[in-house]
Order: sequence, then C-alpha cells, then structure tokens
Amino acid sequence: MSFSVHGLAVSSGVAIGRAVLVASSRVDVAHYFVDEGQIEPELDRVRRARNEVVAEVCRLQQSLQDMPAKDGHVELTALLDVHLMLLQDEHLSDGVKHWIVDRRYNAEWALTAQLELVARQFDEMEDPYLRERKADLEQIVERVLRAMRGMTSPVALPPSPSRKAPQGLLLDDTIDVPLILVAHDLSPADMLQFKQSAFAGFVTDVGGKTSHTAIVARSMDIPAVVGARAASQIIEQDDWLIIDGEAGVVIADPSPIILAEYGFRQRQTEVERERLSRLRNTPAMTMDGEKIELLANIEEPSDCASALKAGAIGVGLFRSEFLFMGRQGSLPDEEEQYRAYRAAVQGMEGLPVTIRTVDVGADKPLDRSRNAEDHLNPALGLRAIRWSLSEPAMFLTQLRAILRAAAHGPVHLLVPMLAHVSEIRQTLALIDRARGQLNAKGQAYGPVKVGAMIEVPAAALMVDVFLKYFDFLSIGTNDLIQYTLAIDRVDESVAHLYDPMHPAVLHLVAHTIAAGRVAGKPVSVCGEMAGDVAMTRLLLGLGLRSFSMHPSQVLAVKQQVLRCDTRKLEPLARAALDAEEPALVMAA
Ligand code: PEP
Ligand code: MG
Repeated sequence: MSFSVHGLAVSSGVAIGRAVLVASSRVDVAHYFVDEGQIEPELDRVRRARNEVVAEVCRLQQSLQDMPAKDGHVELTALLDVHLMLLQDEHLSDGVKHWIVDRRYNAEWALTAQLELVARQFDEMEDPYLRERKADLEQIVERVLRAMRGMTSPVALPPSPSRKAPQGLLLDDTIDVPLILVAHDLSPADMLQFKQSAFAGFVTDVGGKTSHTAIVARSMDIPAVVGARAASQIIEQDDWLIIDGEAGVVIADPSPIILAEYGFRQRQTEVERERLSRLRNTPAMTMDGEKIELLANIEEPSDCASALKAGAIGVGLFRSEFLFMGRQGSLPDEEEQYRAYRAAVQGMEGLPVTIRTVDVGADKPLDRSRNAEDHLNPALGLRAIRWSLSEPAMFLTQLRAILRAAAHGPVHLLVPMLAHVSEIRQTLALIDRARGQLNAKGQAYGPVKVGAMIEVPAAALMVDVFLKYFDFLSIGTNDLIQYTLAIDRVDESVAHLYDPMHPAVLHLVAHTIAAGRVAGKPVSVCGEMAGDVAMTRLLLGLGLRSFSMHPSQVLAVKQQVLRCDTRKLEPLARAALDAEEPALVMAA
C-alpha cells in the first residue's frame, strides 16, 4: 500500500529506487556491488565467518561444561544455545544469500540488510521473551562481521556504478536499480563514506536543513530528505521509494501513475541541468556590470574536479575537518594533511583555495563513539577554533601543513567560530609560531591570506575589530542563524524556526558586508544561504559580491546573477531589512 512520509527538503531532485535500511551503528560496514564471478567467493566468506563463530560458541559451551557447575552456568549455556540456533537459522542464511545472489550486495552489506529485516520481525513479536532475542541476533551478526573482517574480500571497492532510474514503470526484480539509503541518523563522516557508493538518494529520521549530514548530501548532489521522523521504522527493506527532494516527501510503494509523474520530473531535471551547464564559461556578471565571485565549498580534495566542472573560480571553503573524522582517535599527521591540502591546491589549477582550519565538535564529532551527546550543549561547547586552541600541538601541525601547501598555489587560511579578541590574538600568534617552526626546519612554505568566519553574533557585532586583524571575512550563515535565533541546526523539532530571512540575521549579515566594504576587505558568504537561489537577489541587494557554495549549486546561482540588476535590488534589500517579515518583501 502506498504511503508518504514528510520531512525536510535538503537536497533537491527526484530519486526513484529501492530502500536500503541501514542501522546507524552499522553504517561503517562496506556497501558495494559484486560481479557475477564474485558471488560464490562472497557466499563463501559468509559461510566461513559463520562457521568460525559457530566453532567459537561451541568451544565456549565446552569450556563451560568442563568447569565446576556454578550459578549462572545454566543461563549462559541456554544463551549460547540460542546463539547457535540463530547462527544456523535458515531465514538468516537464505536472506543473506538472496541479497548477494539476486542483488549483488557484498557479504557485509547482505548480512546487515538481512539483520535489519529480521530485527524488525522480532520487534513485532508479541511474546516479550522472543522480542528480546533481537539483541542476541544483533550480537551474533556483529560476531560474524568481526570474523569477516579478518578475511579480506576478494573484491576491491568498485567505483559507483552508473545507475539510471526506471522511467515511469516499476522494473522487475533486477539488480540494476537505484538504491535509496534509509537510516535513523547518519553522521557527516558516514555520509562522506557513502559518497563513494551507489546510493541515488537518502532519507533520515532526524536532522535539520543545515546539519552537516544534509550539507554533505547536498554536496553529493543527490535528492535527500531529513527529519522524516519514523521513516526508518515504517519503510521496509527493499520497498520501492520516490524521494521528492524539492518538497521533502518520501513516497513508498508508489502507484504507476505517481511513478510516471516523477519519472517525467526526473527527466525534466536532467534537461534543466544540461541547459545550465552551458553557462559554465560565462562570466558571473550582473546586468549592471557587477562582477560576482562564485566559489565552491568542498569536503575533500577530490571535490575540486566538480568545482572546476561547475565553473567555480576558486574554493571558498574547504572543510578540513573531514580529514580528521572517523579515525578512532588517531589524527592525520602533518605529512598526510600537507598532501591533502596540496592536492586541493593543485586540483584547482592555480585558482585560490580557502582552507578552513579544523571545525570539529557539535554535529561533527571526531568519532561516532565520541558522541555529541557526551556534552550538554555541544553546539555551544568545545568546537572549531576553541578545540584547536585547546590542542595547540594539533593546531600547529595543521597550520604548518597549510602553510606548506601554500608553496604550491594561492591559499587562504580561514578560522572558524571566533568570538573573542583573545582567540584572534592566540590564533595569529600560533600562525606566526608555525612559520617560525618551518623556518627552523628549513621547510618551504608560501604566503597565505588569513580570514575569519563570522558565525557568532558577537563577531558580527564587533566586525570592525575583526577587520583590523584579518585580510578577509567569510560569513558562516549556518551557524550565524543557529546562534542568533537560538535554534539547534540539527534539531528537526525546531527546524521551522530556523529562518535565514529573520530580520536579526539579515541585519548581522548586512552589517558585516557593509563594514567589509568600508574597510576595503573582501567578505563572502559560505553558509548554505549562498547556494540557495531564493536568496541570491537579497544577498546581492545587501551588497554581497562573493558567494561560496556546493559545486552543484554554482550554475543555478550564476543564472540568477546574470538576470539581476543590483541597482534595483538595493532598495528591495533595504526594505527587507526594515520589514518585520522580509520574506514577504522579497516575494513581492
Ligand atoms: C556555516 O556555519 O555557515 C559554515 C559554513 O560552516 P559549517 O556549516 O561547516 O559549520
Ligand atoms: Mg559553521
């Protein structure tokens, strides 16, 4: 039966495919497709891993029998019996076989896909004893996964297969269909991992529009809906889904008519994309001759290719923290960082690259285990520059790596979340110290322009002081909105109050742009607002001339720019600043 789930639209477009339910705790399991010839080796890996675990459980049982009887032995033996029974359960093994043979999932993915399916059946059981067996099932799957880790897959992670969505009608059960990831939650690092895989869209139960998970989805340019509440509970493994990334709706088990309608919309999006691509080499200039800088936000050096393809004239924000995340506590050393930054600099072929120093914390924990929930108010806690200043050795390592990369091309160094002059002074002193260390070692490095992010209201209000210390500013509207309106940007329950058009936000943005103009220093916006075509006119009217956004948004924003006359937009922007409801003014 068809049903729909409503959430927040975070990445537009239409995706049509089958649901792949992934438990949050298991997203680090590799997801890739295997060739026909690799089916048997994958089945064999599961068999061997399962046999290994069976042998392990039998050994445990034996050692219990050899021990003097004690309280608890009976219970433990019964538990091991249950584990053995589950390990030999045909429902589990047949299911795993189905995912590998019919869907060509790799072994780990097949195992977790089947776990999701069976776990849900356990959840629905009336008998509380049986319901609790779900935990046992999870434990044994975990053990099989662990056993498999020791057995390397015969298959390397293949590149994402290009998969076309079905046009209008449901396909038969074939492996060649797009897949849609459905999860309760995904960390930004998990999302990045999925960047390499074949998913055509994703849906999560939690998350806000500018949560970093949503940001990574947008950078992947795949349709996505977050904050869809119970989606991961009501959607079932392998359900047919449509994601309407524009409206923030997920339709499960759609009728042929709905499917035909969305297939049509999908083709229209393709046509529109094709049309926009012709603007790639057109200079971004308004009708009244104002040159506008359109830059790219990237997460990894490999994103430079899409930045160049979109015609971006530099990188306005390289979120370096993605190099630091999901590494189980080990941080990238200077060489590794240097190589990554250098790759970005070289990847941009002489265009400037703005590298932001590490911004972990809040919804970007270093590791899933070091959870944001460990802190009462993670967004107000030890994140971004606060964390860097509390770990000076780590920070100096990063600064040296960035300075060294600057020997290979133009680099700007951007510092996140500053609010205090003392932080500014400490940061600048550490940059000097990093230069001193490189001099002492005789290592080559290049000049950098140093900029500050304006993402805390305090920084916007004392922007003149910031302008004394920095070469340029970049407004991080995602955080500026969060901190101005006291809205946690990842909390979907208050997402309706997260308003980029709130007059208080606009005043802070306008004040920062105007102050930069007076000081003759560049100011850009690198928050999600910059890539939202609904905001382009307003930002141009407020005097903004530099926008940084996901590569996939550059051409659509350029199209807007080409249609604008800033002289006409200035009065409109002034009216928006004076209005109680700026959105109404801009819509007029
Ligand atoms: C911002 O806050 O607007 C920004 C660009 O930084 P991030 O989204 O990474 O916090
Ligand atoms: Mg920020």
